[in-house]
Amino acid sequence: MKKIYNNIFPVKRFTSMVIWPFLFIRKDRAWAFNTIGERHEGTHGRQQKEMLVVGAIIAAVLAAAGCGWWSLLAIPLFFWWYGIEWLVRLCIYRNMMTAYKNISLEREAYANQYDLMYLDRRDAFAWIRYIKQ
Ligand SMILES: [Zn+2]
Repeated sequence: MKKIYNNIFPVKRFTSMVIWPFLFIRKDRAWAFNTIGERHEGTHGRQQKEMLVVGAIIAAVLAAAGCGWWSLLAIPLFFWWYGIEWLVRLCIYRNMMTAYKNISLEREAYANQYDLMYLDRRDAFAWIRYIKQ
C-alpha cells in the first residue's frame, strides 16, 4: 500500500488508517507507527480488497436490476459493514472504544498483528470468523 503522511487523516487519537490502496499515517503520530501497526493495517487492506470485489458484484447486480446510480453505494461495502457493526456493538457495549475494538474486522486485525506470517497464510474473508466471539 502507498503510505501517505499527513495531519488530517485519520482524526486525532488515531495513528493510521487504510483506504485501500492508500495507508494514511498522521505525521504527529508517525513515531507510534511501527511494523505491528503496518501488519494491522495490512489486514484491513486485505479485508477492503475482498469486500470491494463483493461490493462491486452487488453494485452490478443492483444496476442490472434497474437501481440506477444508487447501485454504486454498494461498492464501499467494507465501510458500510464497519460502520453498521460499530453501531450494533455500541448498542451492546455502550462504550465507543469497546465497540470499535469488537468490530469483527478489528478483532481479526488486533488478534493477528503480532504474527509475522499472518498475511501470508490468511484465508480470504477470515474476518467472518471473528463476528461471533
Ligand atoms: Zn484497525
